[in-house]
Amino acid sequence: MRRFLAFVLASPLVPVFAGGQAPHRTAIRAGRLIDGKSDKPIENALILIEGDKIASATPGGGAPAGAEVIDLSKTTVLPGFIDVHTHVLLQGDVTAAEYDDQLLKESIPYRAILAARNAQIALSHGFTAMRDLETEGAMYADVDVKTAIAKEEVPGPRMQVATRAMTPTGMYPLLGYSWELKLPAGVQYVDGVDGARKAVREQVMYGADWIKYYSDRRYHFAGDGVLHSMVNFTDEEAKAIVDEAHRLGKKVAAHAIGSDGIAAALRAGVDTIEHADGLTDALMDEMVRKGVYWVPTLTVGLYVAPGRGGNWQKMADLQRENFGKALKKGVKIALGTDAGGFDWKKVNQAKEFEYYVQYGMTPIEAIHTGTSTAAELLGWSDKTGTIEAGKWADLVAVSGDPLKDITELQKVKFVMKGGAVYKNELH
Ligand SMILES: [Zn+2]
Repeated sequence: MRRFLAFVLASPLVPVFAGGQAPHRTAIRAGRLIDGKSDKPIENALILIEGDKIASATPGGGAPAGAEVIDLSKTTVLPGFIDVHTHVLLQGDVTAAEYDDQLLKESIPYRAILAARNAQIALSHGFTAMRDLETEGAMYADVDVKTAIAKEEVPGPRMQVATRAMTPTGMYPLLGYSWELKLPAGVQYVDGVDGARKAVREQVMYGADWIKYYSDRRYHFAGDGVLHSMVNFTDEEAKAIVDEAHRLGKKVAAHAIGSDGIAAALRAGVDTIEHADGLTDALMDEMVRKGVYWVPTLTVGLYVAPGRGGNWQKMADLQRENFGKALKKGVKIALGTDAGGFDWKKVNQAKEFEYYVQYGMTPIEAIHTGTSTAAELLGWSDKTGTIEAGKWADLVAVSGDPLKDITELQKVKFVMKGGAVYKNELH
């Protein structure tokens, strides 16, 4: 802990090449380096860090004089992981009752305290960046969590946040209570083209980096074997959301599970599709053509299926089949877990890498989904996602070889973010 504080306190005070004191320099000896660029690991690499950035990553070489040396020579070093679909303000909701209880019985300040705890768990599991995709009734508290982390008041990943998410009136919980009660909603209810534009402006004003909306609900299999759904917004409304967000320089994520919801989101021009169990060949082709990312969130699907029953296991099976097809077609897949949909304390979100390998990716392909491809989705390709000169010094180390056993990524032993060491179990 002392070491972490020293790094954090030192870094903003140290002038970079200001003629006087040089920036703090750290040299990491990596037994094996998976830099996120090359498919082949580099044996015995040296990573030089100046302040909060990577200065170089080279095979071999000696540590420069005056640099602090961190010996990771018995480990595999990788870029910090990125999860592009999380809910830090949620603690798992297998059943509707678990969801309702959080909105009805927990205050937003209480939920924000747990969110800070969840961010710390994520960082300790090697996640140095996350896109948090809506607060589920906790208003703009994700902006506060992001700010507290950025100001180094609490440890956690770098965050991009979506704030409240949107559906039309009545198409997202809390539902089913007496009309006499004034209840919170898990989203912002938005109606009409003008309402859509206004809601986007409002969310951006309060700090949204992304706009998220729920494209569909009521998922059901029809006689054609395709997973269908009811579409929430009219095309005009959905297009207004996307157009206004893009006009303000923000990107849009759509929750879409059934084929109808996915098709509607693609018509509206969204940037990422979340879950997408009901993909069809034609929809995958359209995603490739438009360069839209797929964020599969397998961890949550497989976690909630047994508890929810109904179609959920069938939907998970369909997603497995679609994953193989999408991989062959070249759909851009970025790692997202829906952490918060499952309990942060019970499931390590790095499990998602393991599912991608089970579903047909090579280990290095799976690693790219949660590093370089995820960074690209965030618009941070020049800042993170690989270990190379000029990028943030965000990296992790594991004891074994994740190219042989992907579950190694669930046993992160060392975490550095912005040149500061947050975890080191290798002493
Ligand atoms: Zn989600």
